[in-house]
Amino acid sequence: MEYITRDLAPSKKIALVAHDHMKDLLISWADKRKQQLETHQLFATGTTGVLLQKQTKLPIECLLSGPMGGDQQLGAKIAEGQLDLLIFFWDPMNAVPHDTDVKALLRLAAVWNIPIATNIATADFIMDSFHINKVYATRIPDYAGYLLERTK
Ligand code: PGA
Repeated sequence: MEYITRDLAPSKKIALVAHDHMKDLLISWADKRKQQLETHQLFATGTTGVLLQKQTKLPIECLLSGPMGGDQQLGAKIAEGQLDLLIFFWDPMNAVPHDTDVKALLRLAAVWNIPIATNIATADFIMDSFHINKVYATRIPDYAGYLLERTK
């Protein structure tokens, strides 16, 4: 696979998702980082987003609830270049009904070179990184080249 570079703006498009047992953790983390998070564009799966909005009053574009298709909506946004960063506190101790959707979302994030935080430590490292509020030249798969190669 060949790669091309694409500049991410200083204000990042960030998706926030937490499974049910992880929601309190994500909400208290986001509440502490409210001032920083409001400089970015936020997206979330339905339940996570509504609970985050209630607690933090941050503007968040809420998609469908995860088990109802929200994870897949986020995956589609990643594939279309509409998300820069995924903060996804999935639950390592409890099964969820939409495990296939969770895997699909994590897979697409890997394909499109999206930074993924699956716990507080990684979320802190990413949000405190040098790149978070600067232009960042990211590498994404060269889809045009990929298609050309497969259709010649
Ligand atoms: P929810 O979905 O925010 O609607 O709970 C999260 C998920 O389970 O992926």
